[in-house]
Amino acid sequence: SSLLSLREVAKAYRGDAAPFALEVPAFELAEGEALALAGPSGSGKSTLLMMLALALPPDVGRFTFAGSDIARLWREGRRDALAALRARRIGVVPQTGGLLPYLTVAGNIGLTQRIAGCEDAARVRMLAEELGIGAQLRKRPAELSVGQRQRVAIARALAHRPALVLADEPTASVHPELADAVLALLKRECDQAGAALLVATHDPERAARAGYPVLACETHAPGADGIARSVFARA
Ligand code: ADP
Ligand code: ADP
Repeated sequence: SSLLSLREVAKAYRGDAAPFALEVPAFELAEGEALALAGPSGSGKSTLLMMLALALPPDVGRFTFAGSDIARLWREGRRDALAALRARRIGVVPQTGGLLPYLTVAGNIGLTQRIAGCEDAARVRMLAEELGIGAQLRKRPAELSVGQRQRVAIARALAHRPALVLADEPTASVHPELADAVLALLKRECDQAGAALLVATHDPERAARAGYPVLACETHAPGADGIARSVFARA
């Protein structure tokens, strides 16, 4: 069944310098489904992910997630409800960093559980072991390699059993040789947890190699109105 549905959604930035519009005529994601969103830098991938993270309101359109009418919650200014939904149902893997330096690995992984109110130390240990960082649970992020830190971020994004995981260029900071492995690991862990997964990337070949179906955006140079457009469409 459908986890996420967008219809005729648009979001525009009206800067004088470089006005930009993102358009999503139709987009569906099923529960547990994985997909890579591909497009060059500046094509609106981060903007789309921020909307899907319930952190940025669409200008127009219909948007439902996990049975909630998101467009309506934004129209009604229900920031509390949006934040609660985000904390319970969404996990985010940042490009780089994002770990709290004064918490241990276990504390960092458990953070999403604490925020969602579902603490579960056994799940923290299980995820850490699956991701090959079971021996690092008492260490601080500064004592880890970059690849290990990114695995902590993956475990944290899944610790509270979200329905959807969002990752914006999650391999931006890892060595190219490790990037394929991190992407494959992220997909495997989401599969196992039953979470849907959206990864934004400028490298569709890498995403395809790691086993992701790829949705490429259409980009349109500024027309007579001076607005650059990107279209993400998936019926
Ligand atoms: P990507 O993630 O694909 O690089 P972004 O979503 O970051 O794309 O940006 C898409 C376009 O929107 C770019 O031209 C960017 O400069 C512009 N943009 C992004 N955020 C803002 C903002 N807050 N205000 C104005 N323009 C923005
Ligand atoms: P990415 O690395 O994903 O492409 P960017 O570097 O484009 O991200 O954007 C980083 C942050 O800066 C985002 O929060 C984005 O909204 C903001 N931003 C990007 N372009 C602009 C812009 N032209 N004006 C204002 N804010 C922007």
